Amino acid sequence: MKTTPPENPATGLARAIDSLPGIGPKRAATLAGMGVSTLRDLLFYFPRDYRDRRRIRPIALVKPGEYVTIEAEVLESKARHLRKRMALTEVSLRDASGEMKAIWFGPAYLARQFRPGMRGFFHGFAEDQQGPVLKNPEHEMLSGDEEDRIHTGRIVPLYRLTEGVSQRLLRKWIHLALEQLDGTLEETLPETLRRREGFPAIEDAVRAVHYPRSLADAEAAKRRFVYEELLGMQAGIVQKRRARQDQLDGNVHVVNGPFLGELGGSLPFALTGAQKRAVADILEDMAAPRPMLRLVQGDVGCGKTLVAMMAAAAAADGGFQTAVLAPTEILAEQHARTFRERLEPLGLTVELLTRSTVSPAEARKRVASSEAVVVVGTHAIIQEKVKFHRLGLVIIDEQHRFGVMQRATLTGKGHKPDILHMTATPIPRTLAITLYGGMDITTIDELPPGRTPVKTSYVTQAKVPGLYQYIREQAGKGFQTYFVCPLVDESELSDLTAVTRHFEELSSGPFKGLRTALLHGRMSGAEKDEIMRLLKRREIDVLFSTTVIEVGIDVPTATTMVIEDSGQFGLTQLHQLRGRVGRGAEQSYCFLLGKPKTPDAKQRIEVMCATTDGFVIAEEDLNLRGPGELVGVRQAGLQDLQFADLLRDARLIDQARRDAESILEDDPHLKKREHRPLARASERFQRLNA
Ligand code: ADP
Ligand code: MG
Repeated sequence: MKTTPPENPATGLARAIDSLPGIGPKRAATLAGMGVSTLRDLLFYFPRDYRDRRRIRPIALVKPGEYVTIEAEVLESKARHLRKRMALTEVSLRDASGEMKAIWFGPAYLARQFRPGMRGFFHGFAEDQQGPVLKNPEHEMLSGDEEDRIHTGRIVPLYRLTEGVSQRLLRKWIHLALEQLDGTLEETLPETLRRREGFPAIEDAVRAVHYPRSLADAEAAKRRFVYEELLGMQAGIVQKRRARQDQLDGNVHVVNGPFLGELGGSLPFALTGAQKRAVADILEDMAAPRPMLRLVQGDVGCGKTLVAMMAAAAAADGGFQTAVLAPTEILAEQHARTFRERLEPLGLTVELLTRSTVSPAEARKRVASSEAVVVVGTHAIIQEKVKFHRLGLVIIDEQHRFGVMQRATLTGKGHKPDILHMTATPIPRTLAITLYGGMDITTIDELPPGRTPVKTSYVTQAKVPGLYQYIREQAGKGFQTYFVCPLVDESELSDLTAVTRHFEELSSGPFKGLRTALLHGRMSGAEKDEIMRLLKRREIDVLFSTTVIEVGIDVPTATTMVIEDSGQFGLTQLHQLRGRVGRGAEQSYCFLLGKPKTPDAKQRIEVMCATTDGFVIAEEDLNLRGPGELVGVRQAGLQDLQFADLLRDARLIDQARRDAESILEDDPHLKKREHRPLARASERFQRLNA
């Protein structure tokens, strides 16, 4: 490998952008706004697309109904003015084979750009208007000098532009920057990997990305950079994880003590195989001196809460306190109830700490004195005032609901407590190893026996009265219904209106005589808690609700879920709502209402009717929405990927992960010369994804 001279700010590719001819302070500032300050930045400003200008269509051969590029001379330009400075611009074009027109509907000044005699490229769709007419084509005029060679007779790059920077300018500058490449740009990929994958060397790749000989060339070059970015990211993830695993000053928990033994013995059912594996993973982590950082992911109802409780019992055996952080008050209250039900008989005190806690000072005192062994709560337990006596285990439910800082503040209340994350949002594996890559992951892929999968169907308007009748019959048998209404628009007020209106209309109409209730986000914790208690005691037949019942609520006798305007919800959300039923042995049903307004909405409903498998749904969700919108991706801070796409590049992610593991096996601190660029990429990733 070549040695690289240290980069001197005034020389080589580190030179500021205004060292190029034609770039003054104003353009330099514009470019800086695009993230381009040096020649190097310019070289790494990759095209968004290409135009193959080796294939110019003679005008005589342009047929309507296709995309074409022509190279032609302007004969005449006319503008018909419309309202508000808009105009219909019509330009007559000619090449050696014939003549045709191009039209634009746009700002009136457009017409003035075209003067007879000018030559240029026109790329666009040929519409049939008694013969082909180019409609709103992309156009790029030639200057008639040497410089035109950059823009003609080859595959040319198209860049993302901003005000004041044209394709032509950017292409020229990048072309100039490319001319500065002289073999000194540091090769950033380890040679063996580069050869194995057949990737071009860095300078060749940079050239090919901008001015490829073929589109396949451009793809190969881009793949190199995608892979390289993924390798840096995966190296960061693996290093971070190893750094954690190398720590030996965490808590060593007792994992065969009496509390855990008694809890196991007191269960009225046997753990599923998947639960047993999860418990074994967790106990192994807890017994080891390195701090645990484990994610347990599993579909709603698979029994994660119980697994968490067993971890808390093990912590108690060693005299450690456990904090359980839940995203909503309802869930915190429910967790507190579940934990109390099974832990208090063993003599362990469970404290609930939320905004609604009646005497918080007393509660905090019990936490500080360690009288409270398990502390369940919402954000309230993150507050500075809350001090633990000996916090040894932190359990975080639906961790993507919390920020990095919030989680860090909570774990900071103990000495390197073991951390257990739980999520009911299953995500595909390649995303999991990336988003949760620093964690060890356990997947609970089995539901407790005796569960009958929820049956889901779409209900047309005509069949709604029949559905209401069915709900009445269910109520008569002691089974309950959730009736969920979506957000009508952004404001919580109208959300409230929708659910309140349904509640009022149906309670006095089809559900007259049934015990109905209303649950929404504006109620106090105490009010919500009261309603959930009534529901669990079967004192409510139909519960009208917003999505506050979204995650984790457990009422085994609720067998029917009705989702109003179901097309409004995302797939993951629909799936989680559906997970509120089917928690007992009884056959449960989910009914999706409302005519879907978009093809995507229709497809979401079809997917829901076709499967109850959370992983299948997660994949579909990903396909329909893209990873950027997937729960957790944004929080995980992975938006700054420049070249890679977590969805499209799944296979490369796997490859990069394996390569990162094996490189780090061989060179744990990336000290070898050829790994230095990777070390920098890894550090950068770790810094940005603390
Ligand atoms: P999750 O937290 O994964 O959504 P829960 O822990 O709330 O699931 O479990 C859902 C329900 O299943 C609870 O009522 C729980 O008591 C019950 N349950 C958990 N594990 C088992 C098991 N192995 N066998 C039978 N029922 C179980
Ligand atoms: Mg440990």
